[in-house]
Amino acid sequence: MSKLSSLFSSLIFLLLTICACEAQTTETTTLPQEEKVKTNAPVQPRLYTVIGVGDMMLGTNYPSKNHLPPNGGADLLSDVNHILQDADVTFGNLEGTILDKGGTAKRCQNPNLCYAFRSPESYIQHFVNAGFDVVSIANNHTGDFGPSGRKKTKEVLRNSGIAFAGLAGTDEVAFFERAGKRWGFCAFAPNSGTCDIRQLSYARSIVERVAAESDIVIVSFHGGAEGAKNQRVTKATEKYYGENRGNVHAFAHTVIDAGADIVFGHGPHVTRAMELYNDRIIAYSLGNFCTYGRFNLRGAAGIAPILKVHVDDRGRFVYGQLTPIYQQKTHGPKVDPQNRAIRKIKELTKQDFPNTPLEIYEDGTIFKTEF
Ligand SMILES: [Zn+2]
Repeated sequence: MSKLSSLFSSLIFLLLTICACEAQTTETTTLPQEEKVKTNAPVQPRLYTVIGVGDMMLGTNYPSKNHLPPNGGADLLSDVNHILQDADVTFGNLEGTILDKGGTAKRCQNPNLCYAFRSPESYIQHFVNAGFDVVSIANNHTGDFGPSGRKKTKEVLRNSGIAFAGLAGTDEVAFFERAGKRWGFCAFAPNSGTCDIRQLSYARSIVERVAAESDIVIVSFHGGAEGAKNQRVTKATEKYYGENRGNVHAFAHTVIDAGADIVFGHGPHVTRAMELYNDRIIAYSLGNFCTYGRFNLRGAAGIAPILKVHVDDRGRFVYGQLTPIYQQKTHGPKVDPQNRAIRKIKELTKQDFPNTPLEIYEDGTIFKTEF
């Protein structure tokens, strides 16, 4: 299909979807049940909206409270709360422990260079206020304060109503109900105690289990090498400082073959390309979303997307929207008037997946180019 005709069909599809939604709304609000049956008009299926963001660490009280943001962190997400709330399901990667004090900090040679993240328990409310429904705890920081840190983090999440998964043996899967659908979730990483991104047959069996028990499956991974020099998806096993960080491309395809519908990647602290595989969307890295204090936010590490995807009732990608954000040391995510994250993802997607049937536009809309 030519570019022009695929763009045209994307727009027609979108218009039909919007018109159908409006027609459906009118119909259900004005017609009694019997008349509705008589009209026998085709009802356009409802779409489901899912937002994904990358790493979140809203400030740490370790090694000192000086690393906490002003006003108890209440302002950090204020510029983007309304965007995050506007979805059926909102996801992010919880890159740290939630624990007021105590726990066993991971061993570091030099405490000043030790990145162990412990956020106050009250901060959970910021995630609740922003509309988060589900988070990953499979990464290199939720274990920073040992078993008691993990225990408290899980307890706080459970009390808040935010679903979570990512720990091998104990918290491999999560299920929750939203918008009349049963959602399944699992999360992977190369780190100790987490569901291992490098064991593909293990990942496949977990995702198959989740898919058998839910309508739409979201899979998260924290993998790949880090930094601006590692923004490309190499389609090979990635090593970083000698550590095997997984083959994120093989992983993403494996989990989709096993029943995953939406794959949200993060871990490199920079954005990466997107791919559509078997009608399912993969974001290879969503970057640093809200990482206060002890994170490098220079250059590529200071920009990221909020990715919103619209999927059908089987989880198949229909269209999407990227909202570009940027962070600085003095503030949390703000919408980026320069659109840097959109331009970067567009460029990387062209480079890494030139044949993937996605078109990303300057305003951040993402359309399928094959039907
Ligand atoms: Zn990490």
